[in-house]
Amino acid sequence: MVPDWISIEKQYYAQTVKRQPVVIERGLGTRVWDVNGKEYLDFTAGWAVTNIGHSHPAIVDAITKQAATLMQTSNAFYTIPQLHLAKLLVVNSCYDKVFFGNSGAEAIEGAIKLARKYGKANRDGAYGIITAYNSFHGRTISTLAATGQPHYQETFRPLTPGFTHVEFNNMDQIREATSDKIAAVMLEPIQGEGGVNVPDENYLSEVKKWCEAQGLLFIVDEVQTGMGRLGSLFGYQEYGIEPDVMALAKGLGGGVPIGAFMSKENCMSLEPGDHGSTFGGNALTTAAAYASTKYIIDNNIPDNAKNMGNKLMQCLNDLKSVFSCIEEVRGKGLLIAIQFDGDIADRALELVRNEGVLSNMVKPNALRLMPPLTITKQEIEEGIERIGKALKKL
Ligand SMILES: *Cc1c(COP(=O)(O)O)cnc(C)c1O
Repeated sequence: MVPDWISIEKQYYAQTVKRQPVVIERGLGTRVWDVNGKEYLDFTAGWAVTNIGHSHPAIVDAITKQAATLMQTSNAFYTIPQLHLAKLLVVNSCYDKVFFGNSGAEAIEGAIKLARKYGKANRDGAYGIITAYNSFHGRTISTLAATGQPHYQETFRPLTPGFTHVEFNNMDQIREATSDKIAAVMLEPIQGEGGVNVPDENYLSEVKKWCEAQGLLFIVDEVQTGMGRLGSLFGYQEYGIEPDVMALAKGLGGGVPIGAFMSKENCMSLEPGDHGSTFGGNALTTAAAYASTKYIIDNNIPDNAKNMGNKLMQCLNDLKSVFSCIEEVRGKGLLIAIQFDGDIADRALELVRNEGVLSNMVKPNALRLMPPLTITKQEIEEGIERIGKALKKL
C-alpha cells in the first residue's frame, strides 16, 4: 500500500506552511513526477532554485564525486571546491570578496552585520538600514525586521531594531529616510515574494547614485533574481549599476543549500573573528554550486532566460487577449506574474496544477511563474497550452 504522505505530514511535521497537495517523488529538467506518476512542468523550479533544471547531470556528477572525496571540514581549514567557487563568483561579478553560508536569510544576516560594522567605522556608529515595503529578506528575527511585510512580523515582536521601510520604486522616500543614523539601503532588484514588482528602469541607478553621494552602502538582495534569472548572471547587471554588496542563495547551488554575500574590497568591514559558519561553504555544497554556476556561465544560460522569458511573456499576453480575467502580465526574464481581475489565484493555481503545471500564488490575485532557466521553447508552448486549458475552466 502507498503510504498516505499527506496524513503523515499532518501528524509529524510542524504545520508552518500551507502546502499544495502534491507529493513530489522525482524531477528531471523542467519536469517533476508525483507519487502517483503524474507529470508536471515545474514552473516553480524548487522556488527559483533549480536554475539549470532538476537533477542536472553536471550537478549530480559533482555531488557524487565530491561526496566520495570530502564533504565537510569546517572553516578552520582550507578546502578546494570552496575556493574554486569563490574565484568563479568574484571573476564574474563586480565584487572582490565572498563569504558562504547556507541560506538566503543567512546571506542577508551577513550583509546586515557587514553594514553595521561599516557604519560603526565610517558613519559615526550609524546602523540603520532602509528597506522597502513588500520586500522579502528571510525569516530569522533580523531578516524579518528587514522584510517590509507586517503580516510576517506581528507575532514575533520585538524584532531587531534599525530598519526603516519605504515604498519600493519611490526615490523621494529614500531621500527623506536618509539621516546620519542610516548606514545602508537594501533592495531586491525586482521584488519576488512581494508579488513580482518591477521598478522603473532608472530607479536602481538613482538609488546607487544617492548612496554613493551620501556615503551609504547599497546592498542588493539577489537571492531570487541572481544566477541568471533576469537575463544576466546577476540582476544588477540588467540595470548597469555596481551595488556595494550582494546577497545570493536559491539558484546558487542549483538544489543544494548554500547562500553567499559578496562585497567590494573597500566595504568588506568584517575581519577575523567577526563572522563564521560551521557548514558554510563546505566542500559538498560548493562543489555543487561550482558545477551549476560554471554550467550557467559556459552555456549562456542567462541569455536563454532572457529569450525564453520574452517568449513566455508574449505567450501569456496572447492568453490575456483571450481571457478577460487576466489583468496584467509582468516580470523580467523568467520571473513573471499573472495578475487577475479578482482574488481568484488560489482557484487558478489548482486548475493549472490539475492540468500539469506547478506554480505559486504570490498574491491572492496573482500567480508567479519561475521555471528553470534551461526551459525550451517547446516546454513553454506545452505549459501555455496547459495553462490555457485551465483558465477555460476558471
Ligand atoms: C527566498 C528569499 C530570501 C530568504 O532565503 P531563505 O533561503 O529562504 O532563507 C531572502 N531574500 C529573497 C529576495 C528571497 O527570495
